[in-house]
Amino acid sequence: MNLSFSEEDLKFQDEVRSFIADNYPADIKNKMDNGIPVSKDDILTWQRILSKKGWFAINWPEEYGGTGWSVTQKHIFQNELADANTPTLVPFGVSMCGPVIYTFGTQEQKDRFLPGIINNDVWWCQGYSEPGSGSDLASLKTKAVKDGDHYIVNGTKTWTTMAQHADWIFCLVRTETTDIKQQGISFLLIDMNTPGVEVKPIITIDGSHEVNMVYLDNVKVPAENLIGEEGAGWNIAKFLLAHERTGIEVYLLLREK
Ligand SMILES: Cc1cc2nc3c(=O)[nH]c(=O)nc-3n(C[C@H](O)[C@H](O)[C@H](O)COP(=O)(O)OP(=O)(O)OC[C@H]3O[C@@H](n4cnc5c(N)ncnc54)[C@H](O)[C@@H]3O)c2cc1C
Repeated sequence: MNLSFSEEDLKFQDEVRSFIADNYPADIKNKMDNGIPVSKDDILTWQRILSKKGWFAINWPEEYGGTGWSVTQKHIFQNELADANTPTLVPFGVSMCGPVIYTFGTQEQKDRFLPGIINNDVWWCQGYSEPGSGSDLASLKTKAVKDGDHYIVNGTKTWTTMAQHADWIFCLVRTETTDIKQQGISFLLIDMNTPGVEVKPIITIDGSHEVNMVYLDNVKVPAENLIGEEGAGWNIAKFLLAHERTGIEVYLLLREK
């Protein structure tokens, strides 16, 4: 087996390396190299630089703004980012919610939500875990009751990473209670500015603020924010976890003390 890069790959590596050298802001590099926490603005600045170059949503299909790179090119790109010690790309929009929307969403939902993710205008967080529903995720209890063209959502999400920065949260909610707990779960997008959404910090043992409780109290969510069919959320959840858990080695550097 030949594990060497081809001439073309080496050229690509040079291109990526020079782009990072020319465009990685010195102030963010200084923080990263010295273990100083980067801010939300730092993360967005770097992600927007990549996005402008067309190098942000590298795994998305080209029709939605992906790169069309080979597996080797993606590997080279990730290696170069790591070698340059750039901030970790926040996965909630680009690696989790985006793939769900372009795979299961309607054309209207794709048009509405994908540009905000790829341009880094909208910060997403993940509302899966609940108090008492972690490993046993399908036992989740957050309830969404249909009321005309809206859902009324009540429940509590926990360990929600960077919810304090988020504009939107993608949530697993229970739209029906059946004997089989994996049934009756739906995938709903909720604007964090909706009345009834409250974020409270969880300060971890190292004193940092990365995770949160998110309380949902009679939150009125337009039914058009449902992704896929009502009750089909468990399949979507598993699809998303396949994207999430392949990035499990990522350590999020945006920590606040
Ligand atoms: C830093 C951090 C960030 C996170 N960010 C998010 C986020 O943004 N959004 C989100 O939705 N969630 C998030 N989570 C939640 C995370 O995915 C859950 O912690 C995870 O699902 C485990 O749930 P739990 O913590 O309730 O543990 P539990 O489910 O209570 O498990 C506790 C322990 O018991 C073991 N255990 C559980 N069930 C069994 C069993 N049947 N048999 C044997 N052993 C068992 C587990 O392996 C574990 O060791 C985050 C967690 C952390 C630590």
